[in-house]
Amino acid sequence: MRWPVMGTVAQMTSRRHADERKFGELFVRVQASYSRVEKLLSAWNPESELSRLSAAGCTNWTEAASPDVRPCYAAALRLAEESGDAFNPRIGEKLRALGMGHGRYSRFDLGAIAKGFAVDMAAEEVERAMGGRYFSLLLDLGGNLRAVGAGEWRTGVRNPFRGVDASQPEICAVITLVGGESVATSGNYERFVEKDGKRLSHILDGRTGEHVSGIAGVTVVTPREYGAMLADGLSTTLFVLGPEAGAAFLKRRYPQALALWIPDDPASPRIIATPDMAYRLERAAWPVASPRM
Ligand code: FAD
Ligand code: MG
Repeated sequence: MRWPVMGTVAQMTSRRHADERKFGELFVRVQASYSRVEKLLSAWNPESELSRLSAAGCTNWTEAASPDVRPCYAAALRLAEESGDAFNPRIGEKLRALGMGHGRYSRFDLGAIAKGFAVDMAAEEVERAMGGRYFSLLLDLGGNLRAVGAGEWRTGVRNPFRGVDASQPEICAVITLVGGESVATSGNYERFVEKDGKRLSHILDGRTGEHVSGIAGVTVVTPREYGAMLADGLSTTLFVLGPEAGAAFLKRRYPQALALWIPDDPASPRIIATPDMAYRLERAAWPVASPRM
């Protein structure tokens, strides 16, 4: 099942489920979950709760928001504090200043964490609906994946250089997700602005407001207890921090998360991976090194 939502594409794949009717029922629940998040947290819709709070000059975001989305605001503010604002939901103003604010209506931007939050909410819905029965489902919202129920799912790490060089392989490594795990990727190859022939990433350093350069992609895998929201927020955070500071940040704060960085160097493509991620990578197309710690 595929459908457009949040300016991207959602996908729901089931390996085995009780029956067609049950899968249809799960689809309705997941779709409703995503629509609710879009209605409350979209910076792209002037009528969303987030945009209305922003227009009203809100500063106490977590208290002012609807109770079911407060955890997303709280997680964004916590990640900002933990990362010294490398991750920074207040980036909306800076994006506008750089002419990247078109279509956005809020100073506060949860674009880097709210899709993962929506996937976690949907996964909870599905587990509630299935009770203890056997099922195996993969939720994918714009590249934020979560394996729900039993079974393993193999997923490819996209080759960020494929867009500039069609002779390159589509994917540069494979990761197998086990039930409950999530994976998120941040990159400079889907959303960017061109300036003087240079591609400028849609990910800014939240501390300076500058476009982040030097990294083409970051992929993060998190265990069930961290969830898809944290994978989503961490992929952006680590994109900003880079491999060295990023690996030290993970070791300090989120030791069960796995990460890889792809430096923006198509002439000598390589992967820099935390040891646990390096161990999990299959069919790596390029050399895999550890971050200098
Ligand atoms: P991520 O790395 O996950 O996020 C990058 C995004 O986060 C940037 O685009 C910017 O918005 C923000 N950001 C940049 N730097 C930082 C930083 N340092 N710290 C924190 N945040 C930062 N897109 C549309 O085109 N149309 C829509 O209608 C639309 N609706 C959306 C509704 C919702 C609820 C959400 C969550 C997103 C929506 N989007 C929409 C945006 C789109 O779906 C993605 O969220 C966006 O492209 C970023 O996702 P990503 O995974 O590619 O990159
Ligand atoms: Mg993200």
